[in-house]
Amino acid sequence: MAYQSTNPYNGEILKSYGDIDDAELESKLTAAQACFEQVWRHKSFAERKAVLSRAAALMRERTQAFAELITIEMGKLIAQSEGEVKLSAAILDYYAEHAESFLAPEKLAAKGDAVVESSPIGVLFGVEPWNYPYYQIARFAAPNLMAGNVVMVKHASNVPQCALAFERLLEEAGAPVGAYTNLFISKDQVAQVIDDDRIRAVALTGSEGAGAVVAQRAGKNLKKSTLELGGSDAFIVLDDADLDSAVKHAVSGRMGNSGQACTASKRFIVVEALADRFLEKFQTALQGFEAGDPMDRQTTLAPLSSVQALETLLGQVDEAVAHGARIVMGGQRIEGQRGAFMQPTILTDIEAANPTYKQEFFGPVALFFRVPDEAAAVALANDSPFGLGGSVFTQDLERGKRVARQIDTGMVFINSAAVSMPDLPFGGVKNSGYGRELSSAGIQEFVNKKLIRVA
Ligand code: NAP
Repeated sequence: MAYQSTNPYNGEILKSYGDIDDAELESKLTAAQACFEQVWRHKSFAERKAVLSRAAALMRERTQAFAELITIEMGKLIAQSEGEVKLSAAILDYYAEHAESFLAPEKLAAKGDAVVESSPIGVLFGVEPWNYPYYQIARFAAPNLMAGNVVMVKHASNVPQCALAFERLLEEAGAPVGAYTNLFISKDQVAQVIDDDRIRAVALTGSEGAGAVVAQRAGKNLKKSTLELGGSDAFIVLDDADLDSAVKHAVSGRMGNSGQACTASKRFIVVEALADRFLEKFQTALQGFEAGDPMDRQTTLAPLSSVQALETLLGQVDEAVAHGARIVMGGQRIEGQRGAFMQPTILTDIEAANPTYKQEFFGPVALFFRVPDEAAAVALANDSPFGLGGSVFTQDLERGKRVARQIDTGMVFINSAAVSMPDLPFGGVKNSGYGRELSSAGIQEFVNKKLIRVA
């Protein structure tokens, strides 16, 4: 079956769903277009707000049930799943509350009576990943529904129960049929949907490969796209950093979601003066992680989302070592567990010629680099095809901001690992994609900035 829930902790297949056929896809596209034209675009902000606020409230009321679905489908620790549910509800509320002011008509100081209004553009198509099964779709759906667009979502094939739960949530909150549509479709059908005249724009969050395929298709059809892709975020520790705080954030930045986050801290770049002490403390902290059932609150290390994800990561570690990298700790699968557990791992001595130097490690594998000074740290941070996020640790905040300005990414966090909140813009540059989600910026991507001028 194309869409399948498999519990990554024990390999148990929970549910399977087939792709819908072309006739069903056509009827869903028709319903979405009708909903946009006849219903949703005509609703007031207050009417749309009522639906999204209700959805947020329902999500909060049922945090546990929503969270358990995440954990059984992609393996996240239950407490982190609960955090994701609350963040997703906060995103729904945020746009419910602020959309009207973000999209308020802008009166121009031109001669005559000129105003720029933001109108919806129609049916949008989102292709979304499994690593934060509700947060990713909330980021796409909430601003766009509030803007008056309707959305269709192809979620990742390993989180179908989360995909359906989110669709049912909006339905129950009062969204009309066609406002939010989940699509269990094949990759060929993804191309078909992008080609369809009723689809006005496309958003993808996922890998570079999928981004290139989807954006190329959208471009061929002269449709706008946004891409939120991978990252290999630098975590820079300068000579005046608070070492204990830096280590604490290094651990959460690398180990959160078992390392499967686009904005996870992946490359630890530490100036010589602190390098040995940082490495020792980081290693000690990573040794404390205990693999177990992610549903059990005592567990600190969750499995990766699938055996395939584990094999990819182990393959990267082997490749790194074959080209001269050294394993400081870990580097192996955790034996004695049925799930896809990876040992917390630190690699060092990764030279620029190592093919893995520019790769994203999507799991609990930290790449450790020591550099002589700040300038070398910045140069190394920027020597990456990616440009998503990054962190700088220093007790001199002005210095931190100066360094942050030199880093070629969409986000830089001073004295913390990356965080995501509804009011912080999220997105990258270079191979990490283009466009922004969240904040006031996230609602501006798919609206028509229409000039109306009276002579
Ligand atoms: P992925 O394979 O690219 O999958 C993401 C989505 O794209 C899934 O729905 C997938 O469907 C679909 N897809 C994949 N190939 C496709 C194709 N050729 N045509 C149409 N759709 C296609 O990504 P992943 O490896 O699961 O997820 C991890 C990646 O996403 C990492 O690189 C991570 O950094 C990135 N990510 C970025 C952000 C961000 O905001 N920048 C956030 C989270 C994750 P199937 O599941 O059916 O294959």
